[in-house]
Amino acid sequence: MPDSETPVEPQLPKQIGPWAIERRIGAGGMGTVYLGTHSETGQVAAVKVLSAGLSRDPGVAERFRREAATLRRLSGPHIVSPFDDGEDQKLEQLYIAMEFVEGQTLADLLRERRRLSWHEAIDIALQVCVALKAAHVAGVIHRDLKPSNLLIGTDGIVKLTDFGVAQVFAERRLTVTGGVIGTAEYMSPEQAEGRRCTKQSDLYSLGAVLYVMLTGRPPFTGKTPFDILRLHQTGRFDRPGLYAPETPRLLEDIVCQLMEKDPAKRFQDAHVVSLRLREVVRRVELSNADETQFRSLSQIELEAPTAAVDERLNDQTRAVVPRGPGPATMLRDAVAEEIRQEHEKSALERLFDNTWVLIGCLTVLIGGVWWAQSGRDDRSTEQPDEISASTSTSDVDRFLRMARTLSRSGDLARAERLLVALDAVLADDPQRGEEAREVALRLRELRAERAGDAHALPLLQDSLKRAAALASDGDLTAAHKLLDQLAVLYEFDATAETSIDDMRQRIDALQTPDP
Ligand code: ADP
Ligand code: MG
Repeated sequence: MPDSETPVEPQLPKQIGPWAIERRIGAGGMGTVYLGTHSETGQVAAVKVLSAGLSRDPGVAERFRREAATLRRLSGPHIVSPFDDGEDQKLEQLYIAMEFVEGQTLADLLRERRRLSWHEAIDIALQVCVALKAAHVAGVIHRDLKPSNLLIGTDGIVKLTDFGVAQVFAERRLTVTGGVIGTAEYMSPEQAEGRRCTKQSDLYSLGAVLYVMLTGRPPFTGKTPFDILRLHQTGRFDRPGLYAPETPRLLEDIVCQLMEKDPAKRFQDAHVVSLRLREVVRRVELSNADETQFRSLSQIELEAPTAAVDERLNDQTRAVVPRGPGPATMLRDAVAEEIRQEHEKSALERLFDNTWVLIGCLTVLIGGVWWAQSGRDDRSTEQPDEISASTSTSDVDRFLRMARTLSRSGDLARAERLLVALDAVLADDPQRGEEAREVALRLRELRAERAGDAHALPLLQDSLKRAAALASDGDLTAAHKLLDQLAVLYEFDATAETSIDDMRQRIDALQTPDP
């Protein structure tokens, strides 16, 4: 991994503690990072060493020890894991040995590519959200979230590192290094002013990181770090779409909300941010699916439908779906299913392909519309309901299809929510009895399916019940904490995620009494 920050080239030590040093892999504000191998176990590690000069400074040494201690209290798939730490007796230098992430930092990647596609940016941001969520749940604020502290493995997994300026919620601010700490380009206004940091400060930095990934430039630039800090406090940044016009509007809004000056206007927590980011992918994929369905009727060769659909899907997903088992992958499958279904036309639909049949139907339809229209003109305007009854039923079909797509993609909970809403809307409409019955039937089937699914996740079910019990006992903090941990565990399970979200909403409702 090439250097990210400092060009200083200290002499390569042979051994640091139990670690035999092979080569230098990086450097930053605090010291140098080496690739090491454990002399006894042969384990490979990234060994971060505090420079000799700084090791003698009691304040800096204390901070370095805190970094080691902070890392020890954290864990998760997107936070670098610590192995051991201590002081090398001979060199009198402090070190932290941790898992070696083979790959490059986000800073390296941006140097290489300048900017990333919005799908890639979301993929990375989602992983950072998991890391931040785990840190925040453990009571740690990172305070220096930036591209050179995000390690991207060759497998595409992103890990957050460098908790050197992290702060534990309850702690007093360390003042030994004096003034503001962190990195100007990604620093929240409150941090820039030296005010108290909260988890929302990390969310601001996440917004700035998303900004640089999308546009290839940080939100604010200036001649000196001081200028940049001032801009974070009072300046306005250009919307990302100005430099990256392909960015979905919804994603732009998320970036802007993350970078609100007032921490209270940012998102509640990293989990909520990840839900919003997934929503962007979902919405774009669903709208792509609609567009593709529309095109599929006119463009796909009927002789080899499946091959044509597969081919187009491959093209589409190659461009759209980020690496890894993210939500987009599941959605891709759902979209594939939708398109296939659309393509496997029923006998009736094939009949409609016949031009003469079509013309005949059109004639009947136009006659019918004329008849309905003249009927309505005859009646008085006191029956506005008639208008809704005569509108197309295709939106109901569309919702049913969406529910089917969601349930096929594994997101049974969201499908259920959609059907519950549709069921409620149709229930009191006497004109739509048949549709209401169909929706009710589908809802019953889905609930049965969900019940079966729930048995497959007994830990989740038990834990959700426990969270509900905690909340009804009045311990909302513990209930939320449990839900946060479940969210980390079931990160890639859409159904579980929505069940957790449902429970979160129910608990929130306990907090806000009905007006
Ligand atoms: P500093 O506190 O000095 O900024 P960091 O912990 O950020 O130190 O490490 C500096 C650089 O070393 C990183 O930007 C990265 O290039 C490299 N690095 C750090 N930790 C690892 C690791 N675990 N695996 C691979 N490279 C790492
Ligand atoms: Mg660093």
